Parts: sequence; C-alpha cells; structure tokens
Amino acid sequence: MSRTFVGMPPFPTAARSSTKDGQLRANLTHATHTIRDKRAKAVAELDDWAELREAGKRIKDHTLRHLDHYLEQLEASVTAAGGQVHWAADAAEANRIVTELVRATGETEVVKVKSMATQEIELNEALAKAGISAYETDLAELIVQLGDDLPSHILVPAIHKNRSEIRDIFQDAMGRWGRPAPEGLTDRPAELAEAARLHLREKFLRAKVGISGANFMIAETGTLVVLESEGNGRMCLTLPETLISVVGIEKVLPRWQDLEVFLQLLPRSSTAERMNPYTSTWTGTSDGDGPQRFHLVLVDNGRTDTLADTVGRQALRCIRCSACLNVCPVYERAGGHAYGSAYPGPIGAILTPQLRGVESELDASLPYASSLCGACYEVCPVAIDIPEVLVHLRERVAEGGGHRDGHRVEGAVMRATTWLFDHPAALGAVERAAGAMRGLVPRRLPEKLPLPGPAKAWNDSRDLPELPEESFRDWWKKREQRGSGE
Ligand code: SF4
Repeated sequence: MSRTFVGMPPFPTAARSSTKDGQLRANLTHATHTIRDKRAKAVAELDDWAELREAGKRIKDHTLRHLDHYLEQLEASVTAAGGQVHWAADAAEANRIVTELVRATGETEVVKVKSMATQEIELNEALAKAGISAYETDLAELIVQLGDDLPSHILVPAIHKNRSEIRDIFQDAMGRWGRPAPEGLTDRPAELAEAARLHLREKFLRAKVGISGANFMIAETGTLVVLESEGNGRMCLTLPETLISVVGIEKVLPRWQDLEVFLQLLPRSSTAERMNPYTSTWTGTSDGDGPQRFHLVLVDNGRTDTLADTVGRQALRCIRCSACLNVCPVYERAGGHAYGSAYPGPIGAILTPQLRGVESELDASLPYASSLCGACYEVCPVAIDIPEVLVHLRERVAEGGGHRDGHRVEGAVMRATTWLFDHPAALGAVERAAGAMRGLVPRRLPEKLPLPGPAKAWNDSRDLPELPEESFRDWWKKREQRGSGE
C-alpha cells in the first residue's frame, strides 16, 4: 500500500532535504526538460493555439459560473442512461460511499485507473482499512504502489525514479502483490513494460470492480471521458462488472462539442502528442456490453469554497495536464513530494491550500513555494494566472488566515504599510526622512547585522533599492510650481 501525505512537513523543510538528493534532481531535470521541449514543439505546430487556449478558458469559466445547473443536468443524464449518482461533500463521505458500494458487490479487490481525485481523498487507504485491496494499473502508479512510495507528478507519478530503480522495485515487490517479475529482468523499457503487462493482466482478468476518475464529464449526455496513454485504463473501464467513477465536480463540461477544444489542448500540453493514444468514453450501462452497474461519485471536498473566491476560483479550470510542473524551476529542484499533497508543482501550490484551507503549517507554506517567474501561466492551456492566485493566497496567509507563526512578520509589515498608505501626511514625512538619510543607508546591509531569521534570509539575497533624493510628490509639487510660474 502506498503511503499518504498526512504528516508531511511544510514545504521549506521538505524541500531542504529533497534539494540535497542529487539522484532525484538529475532524474527530474532530465524528465521535465525532455517533456517541456517536446511540448513546445507540439504546441508550435498549431497556428490557432492562442484561440484554442482562449476557448478552453471561456468554456471552463462559463461552466463554473453555472456549475449548479450543469451538475443537475449531468445527474439527470447519467441516471437516464442507467447509472447512479452519489454526492460527496468531503473526502470522508466519498470514501464511505465507495467503500459501501464495493462491499455491496461482496468483492475484496478492485482495479483502478489512475485518478487524482481518489489520491486527493486517499481512497486506497480508506479501502485498505475496510479490508479491500485496490490495485493501481497505470504503469507509473503501479511503480509508486509497489515501491511503497508517494506520487510526485500529476502525469508521471514516478518521475523521480529512473529505469534501474524501477527494475529494482519490480524485482523486490511484484511477487508480494501477485505475479512476480521475470527472472533476469533488466532495465530496458520493453522488458519493464512486459513485466508490468504480465503482472497486471492477471488482475484485470480477475477483477469484478473497477474504480476510475474522469478527465471530463459531459452534462448533456451523461458521458464520462478518460484520456490515457497505455490502454490499461480501458481494461479497467470495460472488464469489471461494476464501475465506480470518483470525480471532482469541476470536471463537468456542458456539451459533446466542447470536447473538441480539450482533446486538442490536453494531449499537446501533457505528453506533447497530437492526439491522445486512448480516449475512452462511457455513458451509463448497456446490456451485455461493459460494466453492468455504474456509479458516479461527485466529490466537492472544498471545491464550492474555492468557487466562492473570485480570484482563486480560476484554479478549478485546471485540466491536470502538468505543463506547469515541467517548466517550474522550484518544482524541478524540490521535487513533487515537497508539496505534501496529491497535487504538486504550481497548480498544487494554489489548488491544495484552497481545497484544504491554509490553517496547517504545510498548507500555509504552499503559496510561497514559487519564484513568481510566471512560466506556469505562459504554458497553461486554460490560462490560469497562477502567479496572481499565489499572491492572493499569500495575502490570505499574511492576514492571519493561515499558520500565524510562519508569517507573523509579513503580516505586521503589511498592516503597517496599509496604515501608512491610508495616511498621506505620514507617508510624505517618511519619504522625506528616507530621502534625507539616503547617504547613510548602505546599498547592502552588512552580514554581521544581528537580523532575525527571515529578515537575514531576505537581506542575503537582495540589494536595497537606491533611495531617490526627493519623494515623487515633492518633485511633482516643484514641477507644478515651476509650470504655473511660466
Ligand atoms: S494549472 Fe494549467 S498547466 Fe498546470 S496542470 Fe492545470 S491546466 Fe495544466
């Protein structure tokens, strides 16, 4: 069973140890640079990428504005097609619903197609407590599960492992979970893929219950859509007798036609492919074809609260392509585990603190896990202004919505600055005093100055800005006087 993120330290602490791991950094640098270069070429092939990006943004924004309407339409469509819809307000309720649905089948094993929503609610762990084994079937998820590890990337959860590490995991752990790895397994990709194929086939043919997520849900038809590259997901979606799909409420789209936009945006942004290798769609149940029982569990788990935030709600546009991770200099050095949640990288830094709140030390640290370089915004196929949301969330943390110890100094500075800007006379006096003292202020504070922790760190990496001789307002007043005298 893979571990959970519960009890992870705040980002700076976790990143301090991960940045010292040379192997991890080498694996990540190689993988992210390869994907980002391929993505840039795939995107450059399309003349209308900017229009597609705008269309994706508009469809998502429209849907989020009318989310209640489209979710009700989706429920009616799924029910009419023979499925059953369940509503889960939080992770505990979602886990309870899924556990009861599996128990009702009498089974104690399920196969899973990769699903961020089930990682978010830690479904595997909840099922394990109920005596139900959940087998991951996405290759990278399988590596994470066999290695008793945590996922570190949205698209490639085992991105932090290289081929020889994967070979070792297969040799050590496959036998404990089912069919062992073949004798003499090497780290050649074809051999590793064949070992996984044989191991998984046994599970596909035995499983009576499948659990999936979905990339999109179409309100007008009640259709769910999964995009994947290996075909393992398709086995999970078609072979079992019961299919349970666990999906965040923000994944709904109004119409079939909307898929046209996202089936272009997502593959090019994620795997740099022109077209997705396996796109599976299913609508309710059909006699004699595929699962005969279909349940859709719609998960809120903080999404409605996120929707209420006029700046932060844009995070719900995310289509989980992972392009923002692959260009982020902070992610590249710190790795995905440092973010302490199912959603790592820039999107994790804005989504997790909104879904979970900023009360814990870890969640309050996430909006600061960025250099604000803006590369994430540039590549995002649905134009989420991640830097804007990061700054917005930092404000929330600094104002006391978060872990108070971590950002008390910043909160005090912000309150003092607000007061100063509200009192023009005091601001003018401070500016004049600063101008008069400019000769006394060194460009760089001496290192020996006994500055406390955060202030020292701030000073170590910055030069002080040069103070002007006079304030802007004094300069303006003089200019006006000169002008009226002419
Ligand atoms: S925020 Fe944008 S770039 Fe990042 S995973 Fe989501 S859709 Fe992709």
